[in-house]
Amino acid sequence: MAEKNTKIRQISDFGEFGLIDYLTKDIKYKNSELIKGIGDDAAVFESGDICNLITTDLLVEGIHFDLIYTPLKHLGYKAVAVNLSDIYAMNAIPKYITISIAVSNKFSVNVIEELYSGIYLACEQYGVELIGGDTSSSLSGLFINITAIGQAKKEDVVYRSGAKKNDLICVSGDLGAAYLGLQILEREKKVFLADNDVQPELDKFNYIIERFLKPEPRKDIIESLKKYKILPTSMIDISDGLSSELLHICSKSNLGCKVFEEKLPIHDQTFLTAEMFNLDPAIPVMNGGEDYELLFTIPLDKKDEIEKIPNVAIIGFMTENKDEKFLIAKNGVEIPLIAQGWNHGEVE
Ligand code: ADP
Ligand code: MG
Repeated sequence: MAEKNTKIRQISDFGEFGLIDYLTKDIKYKNSELIKGIGDDAAVFESGDICNLITTDLLVEGIHFDLIYTPLKHLGYKAVAVNLSDIYAMNAIPKYITISIAVSNKFSVNVIEELYSGIYLACEQYGVELIGGDTSSSLSGLFINITAIGQAKKEDVVYRSGAKKNDLICVSGDLGAAYLGLQILEREKKVFLADNDVQPELDKFNYIIERFLKPEPRKDIIESLKKYKILPTSMIDISDGLSSELLHICSKSNLGCKVFEEKLPIHDQTFLTAEMFNLDPAIPVMNGGEDYELLFTIPLDKKDEIEKIPNVAIIGFMTENKDEKFLIAKNGVEIPLIAQGWNHGEVE
């Protein structure tokens, strides 16, 4: 056991990933069934011919969600969806979830039932079963912790670390919508709090708001990849923004990357809303968050096959030089990628 460090350190000196690294740096795994512990979207361990995968996420009221504009049913659905996204990001099939909640006495049973109606809806939608959990009271607010358990064949599991030089970088769906959906909800909240009689005008923002409130994990993409016999070399889900996730793939795979602004998938409503906020639309795409799309790499010779899958864009390629991680802007300028992420409650 390392000697205890008595110097007082502030969490803000570390950042989220720095803190996790610091707290876990002395772990030495002893169990030979364990294939991957900390450091990917899910942990992986073997049992017999099959691999089990496990991932967990904690959602805290006032940090990850605001009940003023989050319907409880949506919250339940989203809490399950974000965990399943981490299992799909390993190219595995989610099977079971457990749910732990801590609830303050300001919530009625009806409200908790609403939360569970969303949880059950997501379970049904994605074919997973609720097999346990824990319930506690809380002094303030609502806490939801979900753990998802999935399965895959050992040879099918895809890690963040497997990208190869010249692999194509692909992304599913479109990016930046959830971030702007949240900005709209925050703006309408301020208007509503100032004057309760004003009804929010949300109709023309329905797509981006739904992307924030009710994300769908990309089960369909995992199925399409299987159908076209494409095994990604690396994969991660996009929860903290494309830039941050690209940096994870690069550092775990020991490579650099180049992605092209003109190839970034963006929905019209995202584009128009970014302009309305006087934001360069590339900013929410690169550094927004909560997209829950899949970012993955494939060998160059799978290009024709990947182009057959709808809703997948090729946005760049992996490079040998790990110091070179660039977004190539429309005017040709190379912009270094930075992990800005967004503040959705992670330890800053
Ligand atoms: P994701 O964004 O895919 O959910 P995270 O960034 O939350 O992943 O976590 C990165 C890795 O760190 C994961 O392997 C996760 O299990 C691990 N991790 C996160 N928090 C802790 C913690 N408090 N103690 C140990 N491991 C942690
Ligand atoms: Mg993830």
